[in-house]
Amino acid sequence: MPASANDEFKTTDLMTMTDPHPAATGPCSPESLAAAVAAGLDAVARAADLAELASVRTAHVDGRSAPLVLARRALGELPREDRAEAGRRLNEALATVRDAFTARLAELTAARDARVLVEERVDVTLPARRRRPGARHPIAVLTERVVDTFVAMGYEVAEGPEVEHDWFNFEALNMHPDHPARSEHDTLYVEPEGAGRVLRTHTSPVQVRALLSRPLPVYVVCPGRTFRNDTIDATHSPVFGQLEGLAVDEGITMADLRGTLEAFASALFGTNLATRLRPSFFPFTEPSAELDVQCFNCRGEAARQPCRVCSDEGWIELGGCGMVDPNVLRAAGVDASRYSGFAFGMGLERAAMIRHGVREIRDFVDGDIRFSLPFGIEG
Ligand SMILES: [Zn+2]
Repeated sequence: MPASANDEFKTTDLMTMTDPHPAATGPCSPESLAAAVAAGLDAVARAADLAELASVRTAHVDGRSAPLVLARRALGELPREDRAEAGRRLNEALATVRDAFTARLAELTAARDARVLVEERVDVTLPARRRRPGARHPIAVLTERVVDTFVAMGYEVAEGPEVEHDWFNFEALNMHPDHPARSEHDTLYVEPEGAGRVLRTHTSPVQVRALLSRPLPVYVVCPGRTFRNDTIDATHSPVFGQLEGLAVDEGITMADLRGTLEAFASALFGTNLATRLRPSFFPFTEPSAELDVQCFNCRGEAARQPCRVCSDEGWIELGGCGMVDPNVLRAAGVDASRYSGFAFGMGLERAAMIRHGVREIRDFVDGDIRFSLPFGIEG
């Protein structure tokens, strides 16, 4: 607007038209177009990559608020006699910016293609990246082997929590409150004190849970980690694996237990090995027995030839077993006058140590892959 205009003119001007000479001062004026072209060319030249160039296109070439697009819209508002000239200037301006844009686009595309060729080049002569194979833990491998044996005999696998309630871990298993296994010496209690939670000291609570949650008859094996307040050394570990089994059905006898354990011992140590049951005591079975299997190394001939596996005993102690105490059945809501059952349990580390000649239980928890490798590749 002219600086010399008086108030009266200004008022009229604002009321009738926004610009007294639109072709000379509006968005289609030579000055405006030259400025738009200069800004466009500058932005095109400065676009460093295709993404930047794409936003330059919106801002300066064909975006809704690009100055040249706004100028084209303003063209229609010009007086008729000015339109042709303004249109010609506008087309020239547009062509200039578009040409620059197209040239830069070709340039940047070529640069991108050249870069991709270099960056994505594959050097087929490079040596392959080798990943060192890991190994499955020997206890996991052994557990699977034992579980498979029982699954083949019709057993189900049952699991339970490692933080267990006192009732499941002791009471339901016929272990009254002053039973030695309940002393602080053996059991790891979970805070807060008096909450009645322990780290399970054996996998037997899983048997109770299985009895409570499944319809009879029940045939389950329960593998899992158990915990005792022991300091680690060559023969003790505060965490160790156990595997227990439970069969509750009508008419189950000690003969069924014996046959089952024989099949299991063959699967673990080889066929045609004798087994024997030695009388023992467990609070949750009556009668109770220790299961021994003939030494697979000397086949019971240790008297003739010294044997490291069985310390010349001829027998290997494998685990405990017995007929489930009727009190345990009743605690799990089973009619003990109709049903009977047997249970057995073994330490997995001990079985693995015997089977593979491992000298220290510590090796199982050290996590040294050199120890696990030979076991981990067993199918
Ligand atoms: Zn032996």
